[in-house]
Amino acid sequence: MPLVTGARVRVPFGRRRVVGLVWETDATAAIEASRLRRIERVLDTEPVVPDGLFALLKFASSYYQHAPGEVVAAALPRALRDGEALWPEASEWQPEPALDAEMLQQLLQRAPQQFEVAQQLINADVLAHETLSEAQRRALKALADKQLVRRVNVQLAPPAAPAITLGESPPLNDEQATALAMIPSDFAVTLLDGVTGSGKTEVYLRAIARVLEQQREVLVLVPEIGLTPQLLARFEARFGFRPIALHSGLTDAERLANYRQAAGGAARIVVGTRSAVFCPLPQLGLIVVDEEHDTSLKQQEGFRYSARDLAIVRGQLEDVPVVLGSATPALESLHNVAAKRYRGARLTRRAGHAVPPTVGLIDTAVHGTTDGLAGPMRDAIDRHLGDGGQVLLHINRRGFAPTVICSDCGHILECHRCDARFTLHAAQQRLWCHHCDADAALPERCPACGSGSLRALGAGSERIEQALERFYPGETIVRIDSDSTRRRGALEAALAKATSGAARLLVGTQMLAKGHHFPGLTLVGVLNADQGLFGSEFRTAERLSQSLVQVAGRAGREDRRGEVLIQTDFPTHPLLATLLESGYAGFAKLALDERHAAGWPPFAHLALLRAQAKERATVWSFLDAVKAAFDVPGGVSLYGPVKALMERRAGRFRAQLLLHASERGALLPALRTLRPMLDDLVQRHRVRWSLDVDPVDLA
Ligand code: ADP
Ligand code: ZN
Ligand code: ZN
Repeated sequence: MPLVTGARVRVPFGRRRVVGLVWETDATAAIEASRLRRIERVLDTEPVVPDGLFALLKFASSYYQHAPGEVVAAALPRALRDGEALWPEASEWQPEPALDAEMLQQLLQRAPQQFEVAQQLINADVLAHETLSEAQRRALKALADKQLVRRVNVQLAPPAAPAITLGESPPLNDEQATALAMIPSDFAVTLLDGVTGSGKTEVYLRAIARVLEQQREVLVLVPEIGLTPQLLARFEARFGFRPIALHSGLTDAERLANYRQAAGGAARIVVGTRSAVFCPLPQLGLIVVDEEHDTSLKQQEGFRYSARDLAIVRGQLEDVPVVLGSATPALESLHNVAAKRYRGARLTRRAGHAVPPTVGLIDTAVHGTTDGLAGPMRDAIDRHLGDGGQVLLHINRRGFAPTVICSDCGHILECHRCDARFTLHAAQQRLWCHHCDADAALPERCPACGSGSLRALGAGSERIEQALERFYPGETIVRIDSDSTRRRGALEAALAKATSGAARLLVGTQMLAKGHHFPGLTLVGVLNADQGLFGSEFRTAERLSQSLVQVAGRAGREDRRGEVLIQTDFPTHPLLATLLESGYAGFAKLALDERHAAGWPPFAHLALLRAQAKERATVWSFLDAVKAAFDVPGGVSLYGPVKALMERRAGRFRAQLLLHASERGALLPALRTLRPMLDDLVQRHRVRWSLDVDPVDLA
């Protein structure tokens, strides 16, 4: 059987047999003959991964320096990796001409069971094997031995594509029309930089409609699944069918069914999180990346890839347009527009009749807080509830309090396995480490001095919720964070209450800040922005600005004007001043100048080699050995080793080396020489290491 790349084979691997994907067929591949094993069986005559997508997998493996197996694992559903057929075959039984009336008569007398099933077969003309009982199958087998029936394999038809029924759409405003006209039909990246509520989604829908009309398919990437219910409903209203949704909550069977539908050309629209970038779409015509700045689009463990960046590569490989959308674009993307690598479309006004919210600061150094809430914040909540509005309080910390401290000796309760404090979770009366998931009972007495006066310091979402219950008895409160939404369906239920207005007080972490549309929301309160004002990383300011602008964008999306209030100890901080005066665009301009001066991305390209081990010395000797052995090529600088921001996590010491290059072209060859060295050195050092190309955080 001819071997094609992208098809699967069964091969011996040690003592096991495993399914693999044909990565190369070149007989001159640089592998010694002695290391090769014979393929046992070829599972596919056609690739399970279409050509364009296969090229993307190859690119990803080489760009991110990850083994092909890990890349394939991200792309293929488990069932296919286990060897299940891409196109399932069914078998059915059909009567042979010899099975005539006379023969039936004979069977009736000699073999009643065979008679019964033969009779059925003649009446129905065909019987599907899968639907039969064991006894019926045995009887049919006996009939087949006498050549009275035959069993044939038939391929199940690929599922049909859903029918399109176009719903109503509002006429585009000028900015939207200009943006839509900018999106070509072949490869180019268009950055749709539009304030929240400016009608970006409407532009996507129009672009998608154009592509569907040409019988081509659309891939839409979103950062988180919490965002998709509303988006999916909107797609359904516009196109008359529900797009395929790909996310981590699917079962293996659902994943396989989706893959088959997509690979069979019957998906039309796929909406999904990160790994959906690897969804097979034979007639791909457009890729949309919504909230392109969001770091959830970057896989942060194992095979570390950026779904946004791979979406752009895929667009290039398959010559289809890519649209990136955000109210707070990544500085990288803005820089690419400035450098004319991307087209830039801007939507500066809210669509429809909504006006932008007013933004104010509350100086907590002056006003103080009770349970995380300052007096003026509570006054504002009263005012908005009194006017029939809805309030969202944003706090980027879950649990009750981030610190438990002894009032007598100042001892702070810390995780034993991490350089981190325990967070108090009041509902369970437990201490929780948010970094390694360790937990412990809340002790009655201080472990250091035995005093009974342990105190919870600071506030998390749980404390805010409790405070609101006390301050606003009778109001329905919804808290949305990863604790409150763990149960299946809990997130949907909470979002429904928030959207319908059944709950007028909403408390949430980052989960609640993104993408959602709550029609009645009038006040957004940001409770702990300060955490981000003094971060030690070069991206901290960008993250904080994005998060503030995104959460502020939830306010006043319909008739009533929204208000945003930010509690801070540092009301004169330049970052807040810039955001208030000139918005995200103003911030971005300054931040890009700073990055340029400091030689940080997007004016440089980074890769991070992280290592961890139970002993500190092991990590350092490994990284020192890497540094000593690595002949750093020109155009690349190597910094470190330095310890990680949190040096000990989950009982392991962590440190890292940073590769820095002004040109991307210089970084890749450096990584290619580094990678085999690591495989080699790791044999002599008991460390775990990982390589992160284009890291989104350096911690
Ligand atoms: P974004 O994706 O930028 O947040 P949306 O596309 O969700 O913005 O639009 C915000 C609101 O404005 C939605 O309710 C949408 O239906 C409405 N809208 C968008 N474009 C128009 C338009 N051209 N005319 C009237 N309403 C519009
Ligand atoms: Zn104490
Ligand atoms: Zn811990």
